[in-house]
Formats: sequence, C-alpha cells, structure tokens
Amino acid sequence: MSSGKINVNTENIFPIIKKFLYSDHEIFLRELVSNATDASQKLKTLSATGEMKGDLGELSVSVKINKENKTLTISDKGIGMTADEVEKYINQIAFSGAEEFVEKYKDKPEANAMIGHFGLGFYSSFMVASKVEIITRSFVNKAKAVRWECDGSPEFTLEPAEKAERGTDIILHINDDSLEFLEDARIENLLNKYCKFLPVPIFFNEKQVNNTHPAWTRKPAELSNDDYQAFYKELYPFSEDPLFNIHLNVDFPFNLTGILYFPKLKRNFEVQKNKIQLYSNQVYVTDSVEGIVPDFLTLLHGVLDSPDIPLNVSRSYLQADGNVKKISAHITKKVADKLEELFKNDRTDFEAKWEDIKMFIQYGILSDEKFAERSSKFNLLRSTSGKFYTVEEYINTVKAAQTDKDGNTILLYSANEKEQHGFIEQAKERGYDVLVMDSPLDAHLVNHLESKHEKTRFTRVDADTIDKLIARDEPRISKLSQEEQDQLKPLVEKQIDPVRFHVQMEALSEQDAPFMITRPEFMRRMKDMSMVGGGNDFMRDMPESFNLVVNTNHALFGKILNTPDTDKQTRLIDQAKDLAMLSQNLLKGEELTRFIKRSVALIDQE
Ligand code: ADP
Repeated sequence: MSSGKINVNTENIFPIIKKFLYSDHEIFLRELVSNATDASQKLKTLSATGEMKGDLGELSVSVKINKENKTLTISDKGIGMTADEVEKYINQIAFSGAEEFVEKYKDKPEANAMIGHFGLGFYSSFMVASKVEIITRSFVNKAKAVRWECDGSPEFTLEPAEKAERGTDIILHINDDSLEFLEDARIENLLNKYCKFLPVPIFFNEKQVNNTHPAWTRKPAELSNDDYQAFYKELYPFSEDPLFNIHLNVDFPFNLTGILYFPKLKRNFEVQKNKIQLYSNQVYVTDSVEGIVPDFLTLLHGVLDSPDIPLNVSRSYLQADGNVKKISAHITKKVADKLEELFKNDRTDFEAKWEDIKMFIQYGILSDEKFAERSSKFNLLRSTSGKFYTVEEYINTVKAAQTDKDGNTILLYSANEKEQHGFIEQAKERGYDVLVMDSPLDAHLVNHLESKHEKTRFTRVDADTIDKLIARDEPRISKLSQEEQDQLKPLVEKQIDPVRFHVQMEALSEQDAPFMITRPEFMRRMKDMSMVGGGNDFMRDMPESFNLVVNTNHALFGKILNTPDTDKQTRLIDQAKDLAMLSQNLLKGEELTRFIKRSVALIDQE
C-alpha cells in the first residue's frame, strides 16, 4: 500500500469547492456518469483503431445505491486506469484543474456549469461524499486492479485491489448532509435530467434510464415526421404537438447538431422561454441558452448539442465569442430557410399555421436585422377577408384603390374586428381592404414595414373619418356656414372632457352619424408601442385621446342652432355624442347611467 499527499498549494481545497458550489451539489452525478461514459467511449475508439484487442463486451454504466452502507456506486466497463494513471489523472491533473477552477470562479454564479470543463468533475464528488473510493482496472493486458481512497483531505491511499472485470467503480460514501442522494427517486430524477441522452446505456435499479441514440444524433434522412414528434414528447412529455421542426447538422467551421421545434405560440409567448436544452456531446449542460441563440429563437423548443460552445466563460463574454456568433447566425439562417421552404412548398398549410407562428416571426423581424431581410419571403399579412398576402403582394393588390393624393399607398388595418366593425364596414363599402393586425407586436411591426417600403403608410381603420383615411383632392361642401360652425363648436366643447377629446368639424355625408370618434394614428401607435416596450413611459401613462368629429352636414346641427332652448341644445348634443361613444365601447360608469336615463326620458316624450 502506498499513501501520499495530493500535490496542491491550497492546503485543503474541498471546503472551498463545497462552499461555492453549494447550490448545485447534484451535478456530481452528471460528472461521474459522464466520466464513466467517456471511459466507455474511449475504449470503443481504441477497439476501432485496433489499439485494444479482444472482446469489447457490453459497454454500460450502472448506478447503484446501498442504503445500509450509505454508498452510491457508479460503475463502468470502460478503459479503466493503471496505478500510474490514477496517480497522473486523479492526483495531479484533476487537482491542478481544481486549483485553477477555484482561482477563476470563486464568486461566479456560472461555476457549476463550468466545473466539468476544468478536469475537476471527479472532485465534485466530495461535495456529497465524506470518502471516495476508486476501484479500477485498466483495459491493458495483465493490468492489475488498484484501489484509491481519499476522505477529502489532501491525503490519499493507493493500493492493489481485487477486481475481476475491466473498468472502474467509483464508490461514494455519502455524507450526512447529502443523504437525499441515497433516495431512489432523487437519483432517478437526476439521471433523467442530466443523463437522459448519453451515448452509452446507463442502468439504475437494473433499468436503462437513457436513450443512447436521441433523434438529433441521427441523420435527417433516417427520421420520419413521427420520429420527430416522438422525440418532442420525450423532451416535453405533456406538451401539445409542435408545428414543425428544424434539424441542424453542421460539421464545419463548428460542430453543431440539434433539433429545434416550433411550438404553438399563441399569445402567451413570455412563458415559453428556456425550453431549449443545451448539450455537449449528449451530456446535458443547461436549459438557459440566452446569449447563445438570438433572443427570438429562445421561443423555440428542442435541443442543441455543440462541444464548440465555450462554457467556461461568462455570458457577456459568450455573446462576444466568435464561435457563438457564428452558431447563432447559422441557426437564424436555418430557421429562415425552413420557413421559406415551408411557405414555398405548401402555402395553404403555412397559412393555416400562421396564427401560431406569427408572433415568433414578428419578434424575429423586430429583433434581428438578418432575419428581417429574409422574412419578406414568408412574413404574411392577413386581410379581414381571410386572405393572406406577403407584404409585396398586398401593396400591389390594394395600390390602385388605396393611394392617396400624395401618392402614398395606405394600408388600412384593424386591431379588433369586433370593436372596429363599423369602421371596417365603411372602408369595405368604399372598396378598400382592411388587414387584421391584432398582435401586441403589430404597432412596432407597422413602423418597421413603413421604414422598409417607401410611400407606404399603415393607418388603423378608426384613425380618421372615411374620407380622410385615404385623403383625396375632393373637398366636400359643408352645409353649415363657417359662422354657424363657429357658433356650434363651443357648444359641443362645453359638453366634453377637453383632455380626452379634440373637436374637429368635418363635412361628412348626410347619411353619416352626427358625431364620430376617431383615434389619430400617430399618438395611438406611440402609445401601443410603449405598451409592449420600446416606447417611453411618458406615452404609456398618457390618457387615451380621441378626435370627436362633428359632421357639419348632419341635419341635427341645423336643429340645434335654430332652437332657442339651450337645455334642448345640450340634451341633443349629449345624446348624439353618447351614441358615438357607445359605438366605440367608450361609454362607461356615470356617463352611461346618464345616457340611459336621458334615453328613457326621450322615449317617454313619444
Ligand atoms: P475530466 O473528466 O474533465 O478530464 P475529471 O476530474 O472528471 O476531469 O477526471 C479526471 C481524469 O480522470 C479524466 O480525464 C480521466 O482520465 C480519469 N477518469 C475519471 N473517471 C474515470 C473513469 N470512470 N474511467 C477511467 N478514467 C477516469
């Protein structure tokens, strides 16, 4: 038997490791099972190259709990270690890794994601074990088994051991603070989280817990749509079916595989983030991929596997990393390719899925310039008629009927088909088309599209009276003279809240209502934009403002001006104005009560 002192400057490194990895003790299992997997894979490689002769046998890893002895054992039939190798890899290399790690990550939150990349994985076992034994036998011919033991101090022992089979057993004597790791359910959960897709069979309680050939490691040509759906269910057992998937498979200039799924997004897109799992050679690393994929892609689900994403750096550094940038751009391109392909190959199906994917596409357009460029091929506008158009198609369709006197093509839209029903109908009667733009991102999108398409303006259908929505050079003649208008205006102004309403005299048609309420496009849009971020708080807190349009061609106003009864004047103005508000769903509370009383009184007069 030999014993020695681990070569290390920090006198006792374990208390430090324990302290700052405190929150994530569980990762020891990932580290040990990945080591066992690596050892198995290495042997496979050696066998393939002929360096290892003889039978490989079944290469599997097993995890066993012994409650009586309070041990957790991870066993593999892999490459094993000779006494010299234990000395080198466990006593020297791993420890220098430990020191470097402590130096760098003392106070950093990402410590636990990095530990495996410092050759420190093995030592994470001391977070949960008071003593660790390694019993190992190298694959090399006639190698003798050895037993290494260490109780967490820098002293260790190394002695010959009995071990019939090639491979390594790591025996953890679980410490009193970590007894949870002797519970079957806890270990099963952890294996499920970190080891679900490791490439070597992992057994726990005689049962294999992993899928060694997850869909993303296979060739797209081998997989049917059902396979992709089945894999989705494997990742998210209780989710609705995804809409479609993108299989990533890149060797050069970086290594990246994965499958991204489009979930049904609908409106609740905030809750869907962090569903992409990041793997490194099939070992689970994290489900927080911000900074690795563009923000809008974090709405997707699925798996990315890349040994080329550096994990041993901070997130801000990650964003500046050349490889990560390339990976990120590549994923964006692939996603755009896929959308374009889906649109081209089956437009009807794409249109049917539009409501579920539009939020994602809009978010992409607004946040990623490259994606925005690509999107002109598949970003759709939906008309209230139910038809879908690309922006280009739509402009060409409505151009003839909807170009104003200054040569701008006006694209009319509604944010709520029910609430703006009256306006939509009026526009349709004029031969105009109206788009449906009811997503929270539409206000921003409209701005973006205007900036990309010259001489094109979006105007919400309730932004103005029908004559002015698309302005022509045809002045309408007002029945009321200027003098009469000047007389009427203050009468109306007296009856309204000047902060909310701005009175505007206009010669509409005789058949139009006496009053109309419109929401000027610019102010409303600024406010909408500030509601979903991007605008300023000042706009968000502003009360909504409206134009109260007085139809100077309506017969009512002649009546009002001609009566000497001032009570009747206010009554008529109030009643007509309230009707306009009612049509916009703006009449509430006290105002509504007064309106109903007044209306009942009017009936009584009949
Ligand atoms: P890393 O795996 O990141 O290199 P570890 O501290 O986890 O760092 O392990 C250090 C080294 O010990 C490994 O590189 C490997 O050479 C050796 N090792 C650890 N576990 C095993 C095992 N189960 N079988 C064979 N060798 C192992």
